[in-house]
Amino acid sequence: MQADHTSQNTNHIHEPSSYWQETVTHPTLSDDLPSTIDVAIAIIGGGIMGAAMSYWLARTGVPCVLLERSMLAHEATGRNGGLMSICPAESYPAAIARLGHKNAHAILTLTRQSQALLRRVLEEEDIACDYHEPGSLSLALDAHQLTKLAQEATAMRADGVVPTILDRTQVQELIGTPLGPDIVGGRFMPETALVHPIRLVQGLAQAAQRYGVVRTCTTTVLRLVPHGEKVVISTRHGPLQAGTVIVAVNAWTGELLPQLAHLMTPARGQVLAYAPVAPVFTMGMSASLTPTGEYWHQRSDGTLVLGGCRAVAPRSDVGVYFNQPTVEVQMALEQVFPRLFPQLTLPPIAYRWAGIMAFTPDYLPIVNRVPDIPGVLVVGGFCGHGMPFALRFGQLLTEALTKEGWPTALTPFRLDRHTLMAR
Ligand SMILES: Cc1cc2nc3c(=O)[nH]c(=O)nc-3n(C[C@H](O)[C@H](O)[C@H](O)COP(=O)(O)OP(=O)(O)OC[C@H]3O[C@@H](n4cnc5c(N)ncnc54)[C@H](O)[C@@H]3O)c2cc1C
Repeated sequence: MQADHTSQNTNHIHEPSSYWQETVTHPTLSDDLPSTIDVAIAIIGGGIMGAAMSYWLARTGVPCVLLERSMLAHEATGRNGGLMSICPAESYPAAIARLGHKNAHAILTLTRQSQALLRRVLEEEDIACDYHEPGSLSLALDAHQLTKLAQEATAMRADGVVPTILDRTQVQELIGTPLGPDIVGGRFMPETALVHPIRLVQGLAQAAQRYGVVRTCTTTVLRLVPHGEKVVISTRHGPLQAGTVIVAVNAWTGELLPQLAHLMTPARGQVLAYAPVAPVFTMGMSASLTPTGEYWHQRSDGTLVLGGCRAVAPRSDVGVYFNQPTVEVQMALEQVFPRLFPQLTLPPIAYRWAGIMAFTPDYLPIVNRVPDIPGVLVVGGFCGHGMPFALRFGQLLTEALTKEGWPTALTPFRLDRHTLMAR
């Protein structure tokens, strides 16, 4: 799909900061990129994926440079909902129907491994990012939605996850305000985690720095040009040469790899945060008032973070690169709590923000070598669901770069699946 705008002209538009961006300090990145340097591995993009990649490379002792055009976690990662749920981006039965059971199960397993890995890394590196695993509750607003949640629970149970289906009374016991009449039941997923995404990225970046082999610089990468055995990375601060380049810019992949633009469609997601209130929600929450869904949770400081309603935007905000919230989506978000919890007294809205996701045609990320540019790898297209993949992807890609062969766990994410699908 044709995008409306490119990132080059977004700088002129006021882009409100997210709650996450307003609740951290942002380390200044160095911009003293020498005019010509030779590096073994360059990572482009300082979101969760680039940070995870630099962490694993650093931990393995492989020198690398991370190039970020703005601040760490300035885009989707620093503007998201803060939920980390295992499973593919689409519902588990839909993933099984689309990808086959073997692939869907492999993806579920990978997200669970990624979560286990994250727990371990947070402990080993002493990263404080408010990570906890209270689980999540998906609300059913009619019998049809409840049946779908139950079908999904059955499919997941067969593969080792243990969701619980709840009736309205059981749902009410978990929520600190009376339910509205629409809610008929729900599904509790025990493994969902909540996190401050920017603190996580900063923690990974700091841990990577401590290994002493990573350099993080601020510059915009303009172009990648093959040059013999190497790749010339043309940046705003001059050219660099690298043996290997990892493109981890998600929604902006098409700017650096135009041949992949049709596989990573940008879409704007929007969020708002209410000022702190007394505890109402103790876990991650979701509902489907609109076809693209709504999700929310309450932070330990009482702030209510609520996102979704993308379906009410013209063309569902597909093809949009602006981090600018819009009236129609924000107004729809404001209707969510009054409809679901009519007796909840809402405080003023403290933050409104937007961020850009990248959607692939089959709702699965892409992780592969780019066939026509030797030395370049791409990872992205997370379909609004990147947090559960990043740690394990970083580890597997590091293996791919430091050991023989391509990790089989990355097979479902290869690029040529799109050619295979088209046949
Ligand atoms: C509103 C919203 C809500 C979301 N909610 C959730 C959620 O609750 N749970 C979940 O799992 N996922 C969620 N997501 C999706 C999740 O945030 C993403 O999947 C994930 O953050 C992608 O990480 P990334 O590192 O690949 O990309 P990004 O975080 O977008 O990072 C890409 C980085 O590349 C940099 N960059 C781009 N182009 C260049 C260039 N030319 N040169 C140098 N640097 C460049 C950017 O500045 C940016 O920092 C949400 C996304 C949005 C927008």
